[in-house]
Amino acid sequence: YTGKTGFELLSEKIKKYKVAEFLQIPIVVKEDVSVYDAISTMFLEDVGTLFVLNEKGCLSGVLSRKDLLRASIGQQDLNSVAVHIIMTRMPNITVCRKDDSLIDVAQKLINKQIDGMPVVKDDEKGLTVVGRVTKTTITRVFVELASAKIV
Ligand code: ADP
Repeated sequence: YTGKTGFELLSEKIKKYKVAEFLQIPIVVKEDVSVYDAISTMFLEDVGTLFVLNEKGCLSGVLSRKDLLRASIGQQDLNSVAVHIIMTRMPNITVCRKDDSLIDVAQKLINKQIDGMPVVKDDEKGLTVVGRVTKTTITRVFVELASAKIV
């Protein structure tokens, strides 16, 4: 017996959770897609964040609900504005990798005040998007922990 308290064991368990175990499917669009089509994709795929890929298929931007709302309250034709004009772009994108711990990701979501981030893999061309982690992912883990047996 290690003499650790229940809280210490729970804390250790939380820190062991990795992104790889919980990542969700990323929904991506290309840079030249219109704001109108990005909004349609967001509804159809039922996500709050879209990731934008460049012509090489690598991560180049992020689109949130508010990015698309902001673009929509202007009087421009949403079919004629490409998402690369309005997206948050690299290198200002917060990313994570499969072997990162989920608690570090949760801390980044809080610090950066964002809803989610892409899970990426390093590639000679750039960053390949392999998944998505969001506040919903963290909520799922929180619920799972409530039913967890500490060993
Ligand atoms: P919303 O705008 O719907 O509240 P967020 O809080 O996630 O959603 O996004 C706030 C801003 O941060 C947006 O401009 C968005 O493009 C940007 N953003 C979202 N996710 C990331 C990320 N992983 N890295 C950098 N910027 C991001």
